[in-house]
Amino acid sequence: MATRIIYFTVNGRPEKAEFLPDCPAQDVKDLFRVAAEAGPHDILKLYNTNGSIINISPHLEPNNPHACYKLEVVAADCNRKPLGEELTVALGFDLSSMEKSTLEVTDEVRQYLKTPTFDNWQWEDTEIMVLLQVMYTDLDFISTFNIEVEVLQQFLYEVYRRYNNIPFHNFKHCFCVTQMMYGLIWLTDLRTKMESIDLLIMLTSAVCHDLDHTGYNNAYQINARTELALRYNDISPLENHHCAVAFEILEKKESNIFRNLTTEQYKRIREGMIKCILATDMTRHNEILNKFKSILSSFDFGNKDHKDVLMMIMIKVSDISNEARPMDVAEPWLDCLLQEFFNQSDMEKLEGLPVTPFMDRDKVTKPSSQTGFIRFVLFPLFIELANLFPCLEQHIIDPVRKALDYYTEMEKALDKEKQT
Ligand code: 5GP
Ligand code: MN
Repeated sequence: MATRIIYFTVNGRPEKAEFLPDCPAQDVKDLFRVAAEAGPHDILKLYNTNGSIINISPHLEPNNPHACYKLEVVAADCNRKPLGEELTVALGFDLSSMEKSTLEVTDEVRQYLKTPTFDNWQWEDTEIMVLLQVMYTDLDFISTFNIEVEVLQQFLYEVYRRYNNIPFHNFKHCFCVTQMMYGLIWLTDLRTKMESIDLLIMLTSAVCHDLDHTGYNNAYQINARTELALRYNDISPLENHHCAVAFEILEKKESNIFRNLTTEQYKRIREGMIKCILATDMTRHNEILNKFKSILSSFDFGNKDHKDVLMMIMIKVSDISNEARPMDVAEPWLDCLLQEFFNQSDMEKLEGLPVTPFMDRDKVTKPSSQTGFIRFVLFPLFIELANLFPCLEQHIIDPVRKALDYYTEMEKALDKEKQT
């Protein structure tokens, strides 16, 4: 069989790819990827001489050097695969090294871990895994639910691997949300008010709540008719996926931290985690907040429905709690979030999809993004949780108020600058 030769340019540089017409499609894609010096998650677009996009496959129409195709590297892939082994190696991490982490978990660190002022930027991924282990230990989950340490480590490792290396919805974000949940559990003394299994559901939901996030939100998934939107019929495609990936990990015996529980307990945890993770879809924000408000005056920890709503509120608060952190921790997170937002809106523009307004780099600034979000989303939510637990006022309301002042000032300064 004769080899096929395709001529093309990348950034004006002439290149060629040679392959057999019956070779695997992936091999052909890889040839182009290497030629373009593209990363494993970048999107490649190949154009013919008419400027039409053509599929990179073994069936590519052969051409000649005078009628080159044009190859473009567009942007990071919206359906990127989970961290591959190569990245794991690049990060210098493997499971056996986790136990050897040099992190010394002093009592001081253990206490600090329980507070929302915890600086989540200073930790390496290996250290984060140790800190997550500390949380499971200090909430007595290990002993209460007979969780083997190796299984917990394997679980955390699988979780780590299935967060993507994207600006915001990455493993560190998972850690931030989990650590806030952990802090809230201690601050509100929830251990005396709820069953241990509910706390296990809340913490594990936080750990899993954004698994395999691709950096493109539900609106994008639906408009771009991605695989996820198709699979879940446009109904919370991302959250359904995060949760499904969580249970994929838990289905494996070696990473199933619930493997020593009864069928009944497992069922309850599964039901609870599905509820919690699906509750992180922000389009359900008002629905869930209104439900919580309607039960607040008669809140009863003995009532399962009440507890379910509280659990959803707790994960929602943890999920969007960056601004409750000290400014020097919160602000870099906002930069990461905006970077991811802008990536999405750039992609929407490129693909001719509706552009999500709050992600548009031509419309959004740091302060404008935060003042609206704090006034209309954060405050109304946090205030209700603080209604149930007044002790939270100083921990989550005060810092958010400070952040609002800060960004309001910044917004004014920007406006002034524009006028002059
Ligand atoms: P997540 O995607 O992390 O599960 O859900 C939280 C969503 O709330 C984010 O995707 C983002 O749209 C929004 N969000 C969270 N924190 C902030 C913030 O500090 N500022 C703004 N503008 N949006 C936020
Ligand atoms: Mn999240």
